[in-house]
Amino acid sequence: MRPAILNPLFAETASLKGVGSALVRQLARLKLHRALDLLFHLPVMAIERVETDHLDESLVGRPVLVTLTPARYDQGGPRSPLRVRAIDAGGQWVDLVFFGQSASWARTKLPLNLPRRIAGKLDRYGQTLQISHPEIMTPGAGATPPLREPVYPLTEGVTNRRMAQLTALALERAPALPEWIEPSVLERHGWPAWKVALQSAHALLGEGTAKDRLAYDELLANQLALLLVRRDTRQRKGRALAATGALTTPLLTALPWPLTAAQRRVIGEITGDMAQATPMLRLLQGDVGSGKTLVALNAMLAAVEAGAQAALLAPTEILARQHHASITRMLGSLPVRVEILTGRDKGKVRRDRLDDLAMGRIHILIGTHAIFQDEVTYHDLGLVVVDEQHRFGVAQRLLLTAKAKVPPHLLAMTATPIPRSLALTNYGEMDGSQIDELPPGRSPIETRVTPVERMDEVIDGLGRHLAGGGQAYWVCPLVEGSESGDEAAAELRATMLRARFGANVGLVHGRMKPAEKDAVMADFAAGTLGLLVATTVIEVGVDVPNATLMIIEAAERFGLAQLHQLRGRVGRGPGRSVCLLLRGGDLSETAKARLKLMRETNDGFSIAEEDLKLRGAGEILGTRQSGDAAFRLADPERTAKLVGMARDDARLLLDRDGGLEGPRGVAARTLLYLFERDAGVAMLRSG
Ligand code: ADP
Ligand code: MG
Repeated sequence: MRPAILNPLFAETASLKGVGSALVRQLARLKLHRALDLLFHLPVMAIERVETDHLDESLVGRPVLVTLTPARYDQGGPRSPLRVRAIDAGGQWVDLVFFGQSASWARTKLPLNLPRRIAGKLDRYGQTLQISHPEIMTPGAGATPPLREPVYPLTEGVTNRRMAQLTALALERAPALPEWIEPSVLERHGWPAWKVALQSAHALLGEGTAKDRLAYDELLANQLALLLVRRDTRQRKGRALAATGALTTPLLTALPWPLTAAQRRVIGEITGDMAQATPMLRLLQGDVGSGKTLVALNAMLAAVEAGAQAALLAPTEILARQHHASITRMLGSLPVRVEILTGRDKGKVRRDRLDDLAMGRIHILIGTHAIFQDEVTYHDLGLVVVDEQHRFGVAQRLLLTAKAKVPPHLLAMTATPIPRSLALTNYGEMDGSQIDELPPGRSPIETRVTPVERMDEVIDGLGRHLAGGGQAYWVCPLVEGSESGDEAAAELRATMLRARFGANVGLVHGRMKPAEKDAVMADFAAGTLGLLVATTVIEVGVDVPNATLMIIEAAERFGLAQLHQLRGRVGRGPGRSVCLLLRGGDLSETAKARLKLMRETNDGFSIAEEDLKLRGAGEILGTRQSGDAAFRLADPERTAKLVGMARDDARLLLDRDGGLEGPRGVAARTLLYLFERDAGVAMLRSG
């Protein structure tokens, strides 16, 4: 149970003094539902005001606090802004500008010839100094704005000053909590106690250290939770799978090419894990095209050799079908039964398949989420492989293994290179393996950036490519803020390209029926279609070696990691491959720099690092709804700096006090609740 000391923080915002239902709704728009959320709602910067009697040019652009005397009201017409001409103590004229206000309003707010305190940003308009929509201090009513004022992220209807009051109310509720950070760590960084850190962060005082400390708290909570999850999983007795080589040896000897050294190494790591009774928790990272499927298949066959079943979970129907096809092909005549199960399989086929699975007649099951629904029973599930892991959160990973009486080994795979700090925060419960080399003989993909105005030339080039027997992808972007918009855009593009290239053009997008999608994909794979117009549904896994040209429209709208994934669809065969990034006009410097990076590097890791800096973790991990608790205080920069330390600290604490029962352990439990990593505490109870 949550420690009682935290209860005031978990109370709804409505419980704060003066907060009514309208304000509750407004705050909810910022996801501020409880006092705790306000406590963690930190200002992003401070306004530094200059207090002065004499305005002049040198103050243009700065927020000022000054006494002015209104001398005249000017308004060109009812639609033009109201200008209140005013003068300061030194005789400098300033216009106070108001849109949508009238002189009669000004007569009450800014009566002529009466000095008033005014706060606002000083601007210049031609030769005139002016302040737009200043704050006006009515004598005797309310305080003067502070010279230094923290600025909060806001929503309509909530002013900055109101937000500051609300966070102050939340701060009043914050108890002094026992310290959970290792004393030597605190001392080394000169970090204040938790509550002091919050006060400083809200006042933007000694802010760097305060914010570091708060970010560290969050990272520490996360690491503790992950380590507890890991310990719990690994303490459950799993099953040692004794591989015989009866299937893997023929598989590997029949391959037309040798394994890369990296494939050999990770195969060793994985089969080593599976031979232990402790359940494997391993994340396999390998760039697109590095040959992860074979590694997965080898692991699944090892499980089958040991008499167990294996399941391969894919994020989309297309990928599941494709894995099924390529794995069936690789297996050749080996005596292994591989089946597929997706939401689409219904009726008798489905019932029979479930039956065969429960009886152990199916050795390997491939599919989407459907393969872990309640009605699906395995005879003896020994290994779960999750492809494109980044779409699943920790909670979902846990569910996968929780179902079985004997927890299966878990192998997660991702083609998105994950920077170390991100891997620790999001996959910290797993061991890592990396395929850090591509099979030899791949020609690198040449990436070019072309302005969209040259689309005609691009289409001419595409025509030559198709006429020469080549295949190509044309990727249309997601349309911001509209789920159907992207399909519409793709359909429009397909229509246009069909007008030119006829029936040689296929189209896939997310809203087509799965069977339709598969049919188009199959035609493209078979070469019946030369050009595939698609949305990002082809992002992961699709493998058509003869497709050596990719055109990505409005490339600036994609994340870099996503562009890298898309680009990985070409360069899969022996021929030279080209990826053309069509860009819009008027790009910001950052957008240009990002596209330049895509042109200059094929290294997924440096691309991912860059994306992490520019767009945050959600971009690299592929989804913001992965089921993981979001980080609210630890931004990527602080995470990179602090997460290794938090990891060590968490490990040390659990080594010394595994049950979290000593004074620091109890404090750490409070920390877990504070950041809502209660699942970690639940592990303590069950373990
Ligand atoms: P990914 O890691 O992106 O899932 P795949 O497993 O789809 O990559 O492999 C990409 C392609 O490389 C496939 O066509 C596969 O047959 C081929 N491949 C895998 N391993 C090797 C290897 N060692 N040598 C040559 N080709 C390989
Ligand atoms: Mg793959």
